[in-house]
Amino acid sequence: MNPVYLDYAATTPVDPKVIEAMVGCLGQDGLFGNPASRSHLYGWLAEDAVETARRQVADLIHADPREVVWTSGATEANNLALKGAAQARRAQGRHIISMASEHKAVLDALGALAREGWDITLLAPLSDGRADPAAIQAALREDTVLVSVMHANNETGVINDIAAIGALCRAQGVLFHVDAAQTLGKLPIDLRTLPVDLMSLCAHKLYGPKGVGALYVRRAPGVRIEAQIHGGGHERGLRSGTLATHQLVGFGAACALSGEVMQTEQPRIQALRDQLWAGLQALGNVHLNGHPDARLAGHLNVAFGGVDGELLLTALPGIAVSSGSACTSASLDPSHVLKAMGLDDTLAHASLRFSVGRYTAEADIRKAVDIVGEALQRLRNGAQVS
Ligand SMILES: *Cc1c(COP(=O)(O)O)cnc(C)c1O
Repeated sequence: MNPVYLDYAATTPVDPKVIEAMVGCLGQDGLFGNPASRSHLYGWLAEDAVETARRQVADLIHADPREVVWTSGATEANNLALKGAAQARRAQGRHIISMASEHKAVLDALGALAREGWDITLLAPLSDGRADPAAIQAALREDTVLVSVMHANNETGVINDIAAIGALCRAQGVLFHVDAAQTLGKLPIDLRTLPVDLMSLCAHKLYGPKGVGALYVRRAPGVRIEAQIHGGGHERGLRSGTLATHQLVGFGAACALSGEVMQTEQPRIQALRDQLWAGLQALGNVHLNGHPDARLAGHLNVAFGGVDGELLLTALPGIAVSSGSACTSASLDPSHVLKAMGLDDTLAHASLRFSVGRYTAEADIRKAVDIVGEALQRLRNGAQVS
């Protein structure tokens, strides 16, 4: 029997309605044309489909479609935002502020900028995982050009107050970038009122395909960034490369769908997540990592006391969950996010991220609790014997 999938924060299956829309862009009877072909119907139809998708993505964040720049995912969007904005503002200053708990796609892009001479301040989050606006305020300098803080953390689901952080950036004339890969389609995002200049998005965390995303770039006041991929001048010169019609149409359809179901889907997911937490808590000596309320509906990051973290995940073949973030789970280092929140190595090692999503059923939750319960009993008894 397949393991119970509780790793929706790593990626989601593609919704059947999204698959249907994507398939219509591939074959000879579909919209296979190059959206940049201006001389015939095949190109025009593909371009129409891409622009419809752009409007669907823009609508979900209340932006202008002209503010959406297609990318291959949130990793590329983060690179384009951070390197592009830093390079465009290099004459104004070389200081950038971010958090130690960001995704590696932000941390490693900032590392590359550091090697090119930028001065990067990485702040620790509060012990509940949230970025502290007062700490960001205190870190702002004359030569600060950019602040980057994620909307919600991929490991803990903890939600940051991006409205407050954006307001203090705006007061200082500093650009504000937000990695919203985890929140798109899960939390309402309204860029008409949010003081955010650049926002990274991706499709495969909201039941769209992998390999596609977007960077929101504010038009008023106009934010200037430098392109990182040069070529045919697609996307107003900001990101060259033939547009992947099927990917973009899938992304657009996934956004439209999430916009429709968000209000009913998120409470349902949260009820299942809370049921899972109640079941795990009953097993004893378990601790919730991250803020109890300022948290995405589907996330549950738990530290298990009294077990060897290295053995924990291998003892759970019946459930698909992750230790640390999926991107770094190949290494045995404890999660940099949990460490930044002040967890000691032992507890950080013995932590797992469960994430619930669209196709999770109540039976999955009961099964997962049983599986974890049996594994814990085995591991904890084993620890007493040895
Ligand atoms: C998944 C994720 C990314 C990477 O997105 P890709 O589209 O897979 O490149 C970046 N940031 C956060 C917070 C994520 O959850």
